[in-house]
Amino acid sequence: MRDSATSLNPLDLLASMFDSGRGAYALDEAAWRAALALPVFDGLDEAARMRLRGLVQGLLADKAFSGAGGLEMDAAMATTIAAFAVLPVLELEENWYAGWVEVVVYPGEFIFDGEQMDETGVVHHVRHARSGEAMAGGPLVLSWQDVQGSGRGEGFNVVIHEFAHKLDMRNGEANGRPPLHAGMDPAAWAEVWLAAYDDLCRRVDDGEVTQIDPYATESPAECFAVLSEYFFEAPHVLHAEYPEVYGQLVQFYRQDTLARLRQAGGIIGT
Ligand code: ZN
Repeated sequence: MRDSATSLNPLDLLASMFDSGRGAYALDEAAWRAALALPVFDGLDEAARMRLRGLVQGLLADKAFSGAGGLEMDAAMATTIAAFAVLPVLELEENWYAGWVEVVVYPGEFIFDGEQMDETGVVHHVRHARSGEAMAGGPLVLSWQDVQGSGRGEGFNVVIHEFAHKLDMRNGEANGRPPLHAGMDPAAWAEVWLAAYDDLCRRVDDGEVTQIDPYATESPAECFAVLSEYFFEAPHVLHAEYPEVYGQLVQFYRQDTLARLRQAGGIIGT
């Protein structure tokens, strides 16, 4: 989730699930071309773009995309969201987004009104404005306005953020530690992330204006989601600030986004 209003409640979500057929949208060619022209996709070769396209079609078939709060969902919107959503799993083998169905899209920020568990396992009633929300085993919710601000190479991508929470939830509650691949070192992952999280929390507490969005200091889960946004959208920032986190994410996502974007000669330069 991400603090950033329309109201979000479980009854709305239930209603939307009955309104929308699963897999109601096919890939929209114009939206696909427009998405791929965004900086976040720079440097992907033709083979990678074809694989990405296949994953987009798979996600559109697998998930039920529906509008809420007055938003009329269409194939172009679903295609744009799916294009961002599958970029993190481009090089992963299994279906990391299995086990849930619904993607709900509001026109802008919405109010999340519900129960949330804190780091110590205590459940609180919370009410926050959100640009996105990922519920364990349940829907993924997005603000279309924030989707439209994503993909520009500026370190912000609400779709990647919420889908990163879904990856994190593959092994239980979101805690900043998704299932790691064979060959990855869990101790190294824990050490590197804790060091970065502690450092960022300290800098934010000291009043420093950091290049990384301070929302990453909300919890280790938010740290993973926010730094995943930077990994894809502005890897030069993440690499400069926390190179070891960058290295762990190269292993996890199996992509070297910095090398790819440098090769493309885009905004990152050399
Ligand atoms: Zn979040």
